[in-house]
Amino acid sequence: MLIRQLFYSQSSTYSYLLADQGQAVLIDPVRDQLDDYLTLLRELELQLLMAIDSHTHADHITALGLLRERTGCATGFGEPNLASCASFTFHDGQELRFGQRTLTAWYTPGHTDDSYCFVLAPEGQEPACLFSGDTLLIRGTGRTDFQNGDAHAQWASLQCLLSLPDSTLVYPAHDYKGWTCSSIGEERRHNPRLQVADADEYAQLMANLKLAEPQLMNIAVPANRACGKI
Ligand code: FE
Repeated sequence: MLIRQLFYSQSSTYSYLLADQGQAVLIDPVRDQLDDYLTLLRELELQLLMAIDSHTHADHITALGLLRERTGCATGFGEPNLASCASFTFHDGQELRFGQRTLTAWYTPGHTDDSYCFVLAPEGQEPACLFSGDTLLIRGTGRTDFQNGDAHAQWASLQCLLSLPDSTLVYPAHDYKGWTCSSIGEERRHNPRLQVADADEYAQLMANLKLAEPQLMNIAVPANRACGKI
């Protein structure tokens, strides 16, 4: 089993290459990094089975469309994503298989209404891995103020993620300080957004963030609905 975390500095985005027995999955690939992915797949002699996005990104353009064109991989978004260009849509609880491993899609709305996390089931002594999209970040959570974001829905989604064992490794879709990985136990105890009493208090905290709009939003969202092919 191989897990590679790839960083795109312009939007502090992490993409993940997972592979088992020569079969690979890419989570949240960035169009500007296409050549890196193709090189890595070739060097590691991996067949890319699928490329999937955790949600419609507002801060970078997806590589899904170009990866499908170049490698013949399947491309997937989660329901109710509006992209009609993907080769499949996945839903809550859907199992995505590669090699002998299984990635399960968890519908976790809140950051957007099409936000998903992916849980890689553990094997042997390894802990499970959670690819947490923009739902759970390291010591933070994804903003909920656009793209049908909903802080109450996100609170409920976060409670689902906290049902995972403390040992579960957390790999987010972004980190703005260079942190790379955490665990459910660590976030449960130390993530300031998870120390509030209930959904209403969480919604109030999120409403008070007053964040600037992502610079690329008006370009990235329509481009990503076209699988990044503009
Ligand atoms: Fe996002």
